[in-house]
Amino acid sequence: MWYTDTRDSSLRIDFRQAVIQGMSEKTGGLYIPTEFPELPDSFLNRPSVPTFRETAFEMAKPYTEGTIPPSVLEEIIVDAYPFDVPVKPLDPNTYVLELFHGPTCAFKDVGARFMARVMGYFNKDEDKALHILVATSGDTGSAVGSAFHNIPGIDVTILYPKGRISHIQEKQLSTFTGNVRALSVNGSFDDCQRLVKDAFTDSDLRGRFKLSSANSINISRLLPQAFYYMRSSLLVKNRMNYDPRHSEDLIIVTVPSGNFGNLTSGCIAKKMGAPIDGFIAATNTNCTIPLWLESGKYQPKESVATLSNAMDVGSPSNQERLASIYSLEEIKNLMAGFWVNDAETLESIENCSYKTGYTLDPHGAVAWRAWDEIRKGAMKNLLNGIKRQEGQTGLVNSVPAWGKKAGDGKCTGIILETAHPAKFGETVEKALGHDPVIPERLEKVLHLPDKSIPMEKDFRSFKEWLMENL
Ligand SMILES: *Cc1c(COP(=O)(O)O)cnc(C)c1O
Repeated sequence: MWYTDTRDSSLRIDFRQAVIQGMSEKTGGLYIPTEFPELPDSFLNRPSVPTFRETAFEMAKPYTEGTIPPSVLEEIIVDAYPFDVPVKPLDPNTYVLELFHGPTCAFKDVGARFMARVMGYFNKDEDKALHILVATSGDTGSAVGSAFHNIPGIDVTILYPKGRISHIQEKQLSTFTGNVRALSVNGSFDDCQRLVKDAFTDSDLRGRFKLSSANSINISRLLPQAFYYMRSSLLVKNRMNYDPRHSEDLIIVTVPSGNFGNLTSGCIAKKMGAPIDGFIAATNTNCTIPLWLESGKYQPKESVATLSNAMDVGSPSNQERLASIYSLEEIKNLMAGFWVNDAETLESIENCSYKTGYTLDPHGAVAWRAWDEIRKGAMKNLLNGIKRQEGQTGLVNSVPAWGKKAGDGKCTGIILETAHPAKFGETVEKALGHDPVIPERLEKVLHLPDKSIPMEKDFRSFKEWLMENL
């Protein structure tokens, strides 16, 4: 399998180069496979639904061929995924795909754990350790730190803005031991990012260390996220066969989105044969992509802070990948766009709990709202010419190919729950009047000692520290 660059389609590199480089230094573009091979019929139409690990292996094989032997790939998958990725019914035509059963309770574990093991494998014969520097505003740092913890030959330094992340998030970052450590930077997230950027361009540091970024745009984080779209849609398809009311329904997946890596992974799964008929791109007030679907013009903006803060992205980097896989026309046919404000997010946590007994986190609540409104009549209204006014939340004025079926109530939905509600306990409490139950793995970190290292925001202090301590 070859990989190419979203900004230079003549480029051909292999998986190893794509993973190690992360993105193209020359063009600033992102790497993407040149093809998305459809899985064989014998797999897609198996009478028994494959397990998550079986699906992962089948799907990862073509992308790693020639760079990772199948026996090693199997070990990587077993080691990366000791947890389940379950699909649960919410109501007669809604399922929730729970992506928070990994160690840090958010979906980023799925991508980061695969990436960590792949990087560990690619670096194993090198004589120098790989030093990963990562700036985080919350969720990414803990997923990356946890994923690389105890991976031989790799060392991780996380930079986070002191006092500007939640208590649970800080605990998840600052309690690592061994090859992972966190610097509590006396500054903002932008200061943390600047320190990392400056380190990469500093010739002393580059000469002495092998630095890497483990960035969220790395292709080895994107591909594994396609595994759960494939498996959950096969599972739901199978179950629909037992319910004559819904056996002919289309399957629509709703993705709460920020940087749009998750939704891009969904598109990859569809190309590989997942029985998914369409997507709903659900965002908070940072609605750049829904507005792109509506107007056809892509206009990135500054991000604004919301309750679903892991989706506060005004300029989503994976738009470039989506636009390289599909034409705008194809994208508009494939997905509906929907956006939700903070008041509606709170209302949806309450509403879903009241109707179904299920507690959502603020990100999943955005997805639930979009799906629930579309099936309840938003799509039908749009088909009847009732349009959203400028500035209004809700379904944007763009009808996908599956719109008519949705208007007629002939769709079954899968919504993605990307974080455990206990990670956003304060917001959930505000909506429901009580705290969500904290899972044991999250409770445990709350009692571990804080090992973070205080750091000033000037580059000199940071560089000195790296020189002395790495
Ligand atoms: C990162 C994140 C998202 C957004 O995912 P993208 O791939 O950036 O669109 C949604 N929910 C949670 C909980 C996240 O951590």
